[in-house]
Amino acid sequence: MSKLLIAGNWKMNNTVEAAEQLVRAIEENLESTIDVEVILCPPFTSLSKVAELTNKNSIKVGAQNVYHEQKGAFTGEISPEMIKELCEYVIIGHSERRLILGETNKIVNMKITAAINKGLNIILCVGETLEQRERGKTQEIIREQLTQSLSDIQRIENITIAYEPVWAIGTGISASTMDCKNGIETIRSILQEMYGELTAQSTKILYGGSVNPQNIEALLREAGIDGGLIGGASLNAESFVSIINKSNIFSQKTGSND
Ligand code: PEP
Repeated sequence: MSKLLIAGNWKMNNTVEAAEQLVRAIEENLESTIDVEVILCPPFTSLSKVAELTNKNSIKVGAQNVYHEQKGAFTGEISPEMIKELCEYVIIGHSERRLILGETNKIVNMKITAAINKGLNIILCVGETLEQRERGKTQEIIREQLTQSLSDIQRIENITIAYEPVWAIGTGISASTMDCKNGIETIRSILQEMYGELTAQSTKILYGGSVNPQNIEALLREAGIDGGLIGGASLNAESFVSIINKSNIFSQKTGSND
């Protein structure tokens, strides 16, 4: 089994100064022997500072978005090359970008292609809205998002999938371990159809949606997730470190490692 992965998505929070304080507080509380992959995803404005602060430890850094072109007249956008200068990861297809900023699966696919071409590691988010869930469309939506977002992508070694049911994001209501397990299994079986058994089994699938120090252990134990994409709880060093520590203990108990 591979290492568990805990990624913090700070969204549009933290000035550079606040980012520095948060990173320092996380570092102070994090044990040095942690066997969990930790990624911080600050806003673009703090990427450079967070990358500088973490370059001597094992914490990795990711951007929250990327544009699909490598350079040119695209005011306000950031290219994969620019991100790659500062960090290794990028989140693509977060539901807030899909729903608030109108990102389609086609756009997500172009971004993934561009990011892969520059050697970035990707966290691809998929997940259904409450309305889609209530209409019994969860599996269909996950299938549509995965197949269209990964269309013509031959290899997915650099891609981690995050199952993020939209109704669980930022609501304080996490998916039940059963809903989470079902989502993870759906994703794995679609990956199996697309890329075969080996790739499906070795691809990391995270869960995101109101993860906190109280529910992480049950999600790891009962839902078979490979880690979490953490929003709100990653803005507080104590809760973020607690999620990491609990994941670490779980990983030591079950023997997950590289
Ligand atoms: C997210 O934004 O990816 C997320 C999972 O947020 P939260 O943990 O706050 O639900």
